[in-house]
Amino acid sequence: MEMSESQLKAVVSEVIARVNLKADSAARHGVFDDMNTAIEKAKEAQRIVRVMSMDQREKIISIIRRKIKENAETIARMGVEETGMGNVGDKILKHLLVAEKTPGTEDIKTVAWSGDRGLTLVEMGPFGVIGAITPCTNPSETVLCNSMGMIAGGNTVVFNPHPQAIRTSQYAINLVNEASLEAGGPDNVAVTVENPTLDSSAIMMKHKDIPLLVATGGPGVVTAVLSSGKRGIGAGAGNPPALVDETADIRKAAKDIVNGCTFDNNLPCIAEKEVVAVSSICDELMKYMIEENGCYLASKEVQDKLAKTVITEKGALNRKCVGRSAKVLLEMVGVKAPEGTRCIIFEGPKEHPLITTELMMPILGIVRAKDFKDAVEQAVWLEHGNRHSAHIHSKNVDRITEYARAIDTAILVKNGPSYAALGFGGEGFPTFTIASRTGEGLTSAATFTKRRRCTMSDSLCIR
Ligand code: NAD
Repeated sequence: MEMSESQLKAVVSEVIARVNLKADSAARHGVFDDMNTAIEKAKEAQRIVRVMSMDQREKIISIIRRKIKENAETIARMGVEETGMGNVGDKILKHLLVAEKTPGTEDIKTVAWSGDRGLTLVEMGPFGVIGAITPCTNPSETVLCNSMGMIAGGNTVVFNPHPQAIRTSQYAINLVNEASLEAGGPDNVAVTVENPTLDSSAIMMKHKDIPLLVATGGPGVVTAVLSSGKRGIGAGAGNPPALVDETADIRKAAKDIVNGCTFDNNLPCIAEKEVVAVSSICDELMKYMIEENGCYLASKEVQDKLAKTVITEKGALNRKCVGRSAKVLLEMVGVKAPEGTRCIIFEGPKEHPLITTELMMPILGIVRAKDFKDAVEQAVWLEHGNRHSAHIHSKNVDRITEYARAIDTAILVKNGPSYAALGFGGEGFPTFTIASRTGEGLTSAATFTKRRRCTMSDSLCIR
């Protein structure tokens, strides 16, 4: 029997619909209609996780690592498509970094004192079900990294992701649950709701079964979490300045700064957002940025157009510009960028709106300073007291120390691109939740545990 063209089309669309349905229903682990049910399910799962051996928890973590690697490209593409932000290549690298270097159960350590009066242990115990709010800038990276640390600590987690990144966040949550099931653990070690909103977030913040809240995002969400009456870990906004003095390797500083600033189109909160350069080397630095690192020097006219385009009249960021490439941003203001353009630079005062605002776009304003002292003052002003991240290019250790003390940030990268602080071309572990406001700094499994002292009086010391 031969099929007509319309019959054939009908069959094809039926098959596609079924495949989509299957893909949709496959990605359902941990997603619930309402927040109360999601929390209840995470609580049931936590009852199982808290009595699991460390080996069993580690097995879940190792399968999450494998699944992230297998899905890195898919999830990176999904993130870029859904949010319109960032670029696929760098997002793949971010996922591989999470998979390879996020600490697991080895981060859970016990401290012991033994002596004449017995033995005392301080152990890291789980909080229970943690409530986590995640940003659209690193949606799946944050969900995956948080989940690994929280599960390693014996917790389960309920996420209220950014509404602009629901699909990507749910995909990541599903992977975490698939890993748990494959390891012989429970479903729903990470959960969320179908449509996260401020209302679902409010339910989570008030819920009696959520003892700890972790907020990754701008100032609004961190303040909301810290006002909840519960313990809160607040990973807030930054505006990291990169200071360059005359002792630095200027050519390398230009390269490091542009590499850090353009990584994932400047979305990471730690990325260089502006430069403060000592006057005597400022022109040389800009020359290397333009000639060797794909920087486009914006005229005053282009700066004005960009400022009007990327910042709204009310002073908010234009969401259609966040995480876009330099080429796209230039096209938006009618400039056809030369081939290979990676970053937009210009010189301006620290008060310039494109310099003082945390843009999360590859636009890098350069502020000229009279000398090192002036550079430190301007950089501290530009960081706005966020105490988040700052960077310096200098060969003078006394100056580096002086800057570090003055700016007082959770992260300070010396003589490298900002992402070195995440263990990417630097030592140490990564995280996408840097608790700048509340002081935990780079979070890991240990951050998501509570200290519990266990004392045996006058026994068990066998020295
Ligand atoms: P955002 O503040 O708009 O949103 C972050 C999350 O908070 C989202 O899930 C959002 O729905 C929620 N939210 C916002 N206001 C809320 C409120 N009043 N109550 C409850 N939930 C609320 O941020 P974004 O655009 O998604 O991310 C970019 C911002 O996050 C930047 O400022 C960046 O510096 C910061 N950030 C910080 C870190 C860090 O580790 N410190 C990491 C990533 C992003």
